[in-house]
Amino acid sequence: MNKNETIIMKSKPLIKESVENLKNRCSALKQEGIIPTMKVILVGDNPASLLYTRNKKKFIENLGAECEIIKLPSDLKEDDFLDHVADIVSDPSVHGCFVQLPLPKHLAHINVGELIPPYKDVDGFNKFNVMNLYQGEKGEGALIPCTPKGIVTICNYYGIEIENKNITIVGRSLIVGKPLSLLLTNHNATVSLCHSKTQNLKDHTKQADIIIMAIGSAKFLTRDYLSDSKSQAIIDVGMNQDAEGKLCGDTDFHNIKDHVSAITPVPGGIGPMTILSLAQNLLQAAEKSL
Ligand code: NDP
Repeated sequence: MNKNETIIMKSKPLIKESVENLKNRCSALKQEGIIPTMKVILVGDNPASLLYTRNKKKFIENLGAECEIIKLPSDLKEDDFLDHVADIVSDPSVHGCFVQLPLPKHLAHINVGELIPPYKDVDGFNKFNVMNLYQGEKGEGALIPCTPKGIVTICNYYGIEIENKNITIVGRSLIVGKPLSLLLTNHNATVSLCHSKTQNLKDHTKQADIIIMAIGSAKFLTRDYLSDSKSQAIIDVGMNQDAEGKLCGDTDFHNIKDHVSAITPVPGGIGPMTILSLAQNLLQAAEKSL
């Protein structure tokens, strides 16, 4: 590849390599009498949630592990929801479980991370797992949130250095921006965590070696936000629909791709990495159960 050519950080080759390793780990567990098993609790019929859970199930089952989606009605009472979750998490044959978000409005106040015990918390939202991040976890030992974990994995694969770099994250959600800021800090990056109240966002993005977009605003990041160096790497977490209804990220990919050193595409970038991380977390949880 030409030295000046932008690296398009597709997840596909990395996932292909990782799947072999995960299949082997799955077989080894089966020889010990353990079938890695995940249960996904899905309340209501939000079409995006249905699609995400089906994709996760397909990926997990392809490894030789088991994944069941427990579909519950959207008008489920809070007590019944809590009873269902309690039954699932106490089942010793289940190694990992999570509640697919978002929950319907009347259940949205529930802190789902606290319903799942830390050792089965494949989403990494339980406060014990969050505390590990606060204490310096880099992702080797504890279960950590899937999207941040996937971002570190893809950067490593494509040789995008994190240590000693200035990284600007745009978006401070509990599932992406905040845990990611801790994880990258643990990897010795210097992190700016920006949000909708950040003044002069461009000053933060222009000084960054790596920009990570996680705001949910189609094609928001344009050339105006970049430095002139063409050396910045861009990680796009966003999943939005453009004016034609096509899936697109938070970056204006075609506008900026020739002005950066590397960029993740949407689709085919961070979305599949999140699913890979989930599968890695499931196998980690099942191996720990030995
Ligand atoms: P949330 O909607 O929970 O939060 C959005 C964040 O972006 C908030 O912190 C908000 O700031 C900030 N924000 C919104 N608009 C702006 C703006 N104009 N300038 C600066 N900051 C802004 O986001 P999620 O993290 O849940 O999701 C973000 C995107 O990532 C979505 O498109 C989602 O679909 C996608 N996603 C993709 C995943 C994947 O696997 N690829 C996984 C998870 C999410 P404030 O806090 O001030 O309101």
